[in-house]
Amino acid sequence: SRIIELFAQWQARQKDGRSLRERSNALRRHIANPSSIQPEDEVADSKSRSKAATPTNQENTEAATKEQLIEEARVIKDQLSTIEEDESRLETQMAELALAIPNLTSPETPRGDEPRILSYINEHPDSVSSSSDRVWRSHVHIGSELGLLDFAGAATTSGWGWYYLLDEGAQLEQALVSYALAVVIKQGLGWRQVAPPSIVYSHIAAACGFQPRDQNGEQQVYTLGQSAADAQRGRPELCLAGTAEIPLAGMKADTVLEEADLPLKRVGVSRCYRAEAGARGVDTKGLYRVHEFTKVEMFAWTPPDADAAAEIFEEMLDLQTEILQGLGLPCRVLEMPTADLGASASRKCDIEAFFPSRRNLDRGDDGWGEVTSTSICTDYQARRLATRLRPASSSGKMTYPWTVNGTALAVPRVLASLLENGWDEAEMAVAIPECLRPWMDGKEKIELKQ
Ligand code: AMP
Repeated sequence: SRIIELFAQWQARQKDGRSLRERSNALRRHIANPSSIQPEDEVADSKSRSKAATPTNQENTEAATKEQLIEEARVIKDQLSTIEEDESRLETQMAELALAIPNLTSPETPRGDEPRILSYINEHPDSVSSSSDRVWRSHVHIGSELGLLDFAGAATTSGWGWYYLLDEGAQLEQALVSYALAVVIKQGLGWRQVAPPSIVYSHIAAACGFQPRDQNGEQQVYTLGQSAADAQRGRPELCLAGTAEIPLAGMKADTVLEEADLPLKRVGVSRCYRAEAGARGVDTKGLYRVHEFTKVEMFAWTPPDADAAAEIFEEMLDLQTEILQGLGLPCRVLEMPTADLGASASRKCDIEAFFPSRRNLDRGDDGWGEVTSTSICTDYQARRLATRLRPASSSGKMTYPWTVNGTALAVPRVLASLLENGWDEAEMAVAIPECLRPWMDGKEKIELKQ
């Protein structure tokens, strides 16, 4: 309702501006050509002219009228500049509020803040923990013991929240990316690989639902200001993309897609940058919540209907399940509630993996942590990015495609969960899942270095 109010004010200011501009144009014409002033003319002040005027009087009258017209033009110029300021202030306010409006919610989405558990992948952690007297360690402990992670060194170079991956730690990152890509692409389902840019215009990020700050005013996005060339051209500022979803969605900004070409499926690998300014507590230890990480991301444009979008959504969930099943991580699939949808999603399913070191039942933490997220964004992003859709039938109207995105694999949390779930205290070693061994020189485990 506030946007509607502001829009009415903006329309009124537009109307005022239009009539003042017409008046100003007429005045300019008359000032340039004073003889055009006729008694019936809309700008002539008939009272200031006398039919009985002598030639000298007439000249005087014309000069006086010209002065008046110049004065009036000056007043109008000031009024117009106030109107333009009002218009731009109102446009900014409307845009800010409009960008804060979230998408509509799917009927599948549970109301409130409790997710619905849909299924489990691999063995349930309760049966693993109760059936053995295994020693669980945090990935920070394991990573330091085996020389795979260095947080202190990265704190000197970049600050807290950054990290070095070393030796098999760094190899595992590459192995996880290659494995996830192989699962997505080799299925023959039509996924095409993209290497996207990491820096994007902030209006493209905002159109995808990523604002520089969250609702608590905490900084979420690293902004970079304008490049010199963009500043000259009056282009918006740049930011570091928090996810490949943004540059992938941006690939079709300001374009028209053909319905017959849908769905379009893309999978991108990118570095992701998150300011995570408000992050506190257990999440900020180790790899769980970091400022920079590698992620394999799936993104699709579908026909604008719930069934077509649901088909791709399910396909993404199947691919994620296959990837996590292969890694042997205990996981659960959740239908996320309204409180967790964010700006752009109308429906969202997350997969959580088990992190033994996070489990602290006294603190109310059961050890599950999000590793993937899949969302149907309906036409929320496509509208804001001006990605239009030409329908297959020539009689149909232009519309917008729907977009769906999902994590294929985000490295740091999966790496952390692999270290924690694969740890063998007696051997001081971590098991490497079979599916990753082709990219790890065939190695079966990571052991303590001599
Ligand atoms: P999102 O793009 O926010 O839906 O996140 C997708 C996935 O990226 C999450 O499920 C996590 O696995 C991972 N992720 C998100 N934020 C971070 C972070 N700050 N540090 C490490 N991993 C993250």
